[in-house]
Amino acid sequence: MTSVGRLTPRFSPAATGYTEEHPTKGMIMTELAQCPVCGMTVDPQTAPSATYDAQTYYFCSDGCRDQFVADPASYVGNTGS
Ligand SMILES: [Zn+2]
Repeated sequence: MTSVGRLTPRFSPAATGYTEEHPTKGMIMTELAQCPVCGMTVDPQTAPSATYDAQTYYFCSDGCRDQFVADPASYVGNTGS
């Protein structure tokens, strides 16, 4: 009689596959950025970006990025009136 006893699996079955909806990555604060051209909220992880004046800006699209790069000064430093 071979008694296996309490065999504790080191790997849970769920760990064998990639769990896409695992909330671990959600623990990292994903700060959303705002497209300086049109004001849309964008995800910095996927959005196109450009650096101007040591600041990185994120854009909703390459079109907005192109507009920004063409004339960054008109999109930054213009706070209010
Ligand atoms: Zn935009």
